[in-house]
Amino acid sequence: MRKKQFKAESKKLLDMMINSIYTHKEIFLRELISNASDAMDKLYFHSLQNNLALNRSDLFVFITPDRENRTLTVSDNGIGMTADELENNLGTIAKSGSFDFKNENGDEEKPEDVDIIGQFGVGFYSAFMVSDRIEVVSKAFGADTANKWTSEGADGYTVEPCEMEGSGTVIKLFLKEDTEDDDYSRFLEEGRIRELVRKYSDYIRYPIKMDCEHRRLKEGSEDEYETVTETAVLNSMVPIWKKNRNEVTADEYSNFYKDKFFDYEEPAKVIHANMEGQVAYSALLFIPRRVPFDYYTKNYEKGLQLYSNGVMIMDKCADLLPDYFSFVKGIVDSEDLSLNISREMLQHDAQLKLIAKSLEKKIHSELLKLMKDSRATYETVYKAFGTQMKFGIYNSFGAKNDVLSDLIMFCSSNEKKYVTLKEYVGRMKESQDTIYYACGETVDKIDMLPQTEAVREKGFEILYFTENVDEFAIRVLNEFEGKKFANICTDDIDLGSEEEKEELKKKNETGKALLDYLRDSIGEGITAVRFTDKLKNHPVCLTTEGEISLEMEKVINSIPQNEQKVKANIVLEINASHPIAVKLEKLYEEDKDRAAKYAKILYAQARLIEGLSVDDPVELSNMVCGLMVE
Ligand code: ADP
Repeated sequence: MRKKQFKAESKKLLDMMINSIYTHKEIFLRELISNASDAMDKLYFHSLQNNLALNRSDLFVFITPDRENRTLTVSDNGIGMTADELENNLGTIAKSGSFDFKNENGDEEKPEDVDIIGQFGVGFYSAFMVSDRIEVVSKAFGADTANKWTSEGADGYTVEPCEMEGSGTVIKLFLKEDTEDDDYSRFLEEGRIRELVRKYSDYIRYPIKMDCEHRRLKEGSEDEYETVTETAVLNSMVPIWKKNRNEVTADEYSNFYKDKFFDYEEPAKVIHANMEGQVAYSALLFIPRRVPFDYYTKNYEKGLQLYSNGVMIMDKCADLLPDYFSFVKGIVDSEDLSLNISREMLQHDAQLKLIAKSLEKKIHSELLKLMKDSRATYETVYKAFGTQMKFGIYNSFGAKNDVLSDLIMFCSSNEKKYVTLKEYVGRMKESQDTIYYACGETVDKIDMLPQTEAVREKGFEILYFTENVDEFAIRVLNEFEGKKFANICTDDIDLGSEEEKEELKKKNETGKALLDYLRDSIGEGITAVRFTDKLKNHPVCLTTEGEISLEMEKVINSIPQNEQKVKANIVLEINASHPIAVKLEKLYEEDKDRAAKYAKILYAQARLIEGLSVDDPVELSNMVCGLMVE
């Protein structure tokens, strides 16, 4: 018999398959089962159209491992294939984008650069990853003859008539010999096969059967066991997400979640949606309570499991989740998606985009609902993943403000509890038109800042920004419900009355010579020295002018490998009603050198209060000591 050649691109694919890596190989079983399921769907559909007496429940897949002969057989009683179909379907590979190895420049890429196995839709050919030889015996429904297609891989295939009862397809894989790197015998183990079926094909809507051995007590005996072989169904067939919400108990959701997503805690929230309309899909999503150990590392892979008609087509479909909701786990099943689609094509798939958009909306509304109905649980979730949401505002340059601004919370000065921006604005004083915040390492450290006292005294609530991302996110947010944000340490906040303001302005004007002298005495590090009325009992504080606050300077300059250091324009503010102000004025008249020393010491104090280091601690120490002994 003449051996026929595979089409060129099929050949290339086969070469790659054969050299694919260990973990990818197992997907061949999913591919064969999914083909079998399609073949049964086709037969069932055909029977409906032609009024044939066919019971859906008679259709099934059967898996037979034969350890002695090292074969694994997957058979189905579906529609089957004629000789022509065998040749056309298994001899050619559908031309899809993923098999086109030319890159944009028209140069041919080396096959190893292409992660072809990681993409789905590789189909029947994937069986060559584990087999030396494959025999496909198939009889089309209604045909008299069966045919056998045989191939040993890239060098071609043969088709010849053979005998077979009933219609359907029997695919026999002659497994490769085990090597040092790979153990193909695992695909003959009952436990392993069960595991693979459960992992990839659990929700195929036909039974996947296998003869399984199990031990049981001999009848009539109390201690004698026997091994019996019984046909078992390996898949559960009905996906939990396809059920009605009222058919699923909280425990079932929770067990499913823990099992599937390897968490030992209950999910904080279960989102079960069956959407219809523009795009139809079912989704079962879970919001975890706990940060996965690798969540804030680059190893964490976001994504939802993607199913099409009960067949898992991708384990982590990243395109379904925006980064700011990357903590969400779950499954999406849509009949509108084609199985035969490569990962690159999927990225541009309009259906998938619609689903992603709809999911984002859903997650947003469910998180808001959780916040309303179960505040403590929401706060747990927020503590775990809030940073990610704030990064979302920052990274999207404001495009996602709508989705995220009502989900974020900060600890506030009122009760040292989390408040949302909405709550903050809702209880702002009548005279207040700005949202006040302060930055620092911890709530306690912020409380110690000289600037906080006066703001709190006036009855204004302050949001505490204790994470690096906070101020950056808020700058991007810019405003909330028409209210601007102000950093109480750096922005020109307006607490005093008109007269008070006028008085302060005058004081700064008349004291200009003194203030300039103090600034020059301190030296390069500082832009200006001025009087302020926003410090109640404290003598001094630091503030900044311009875009970059001290916190931002700290954060940006601490980024490793960041060559472009930034510098905030630092201003030393002196409490106009503190005795030190009078003292400085006096010294400026009587003893300028001493005034200069005072300025340096006050500046050092302000830096320390702010959590910054002092450039020359020895000089500082000598200066203080010198004043002590005078
Ligand atoms: P895909 O299933 O993605 O189209 P495959 O390479 O897996 O690609 O299969 C090619 C074609 O072979 C299928 O579209 C189907 O027509 C046919 N086929 C494969 N397996 C079976 C089967 N068990 N029964 C009937 N037809 C099959």
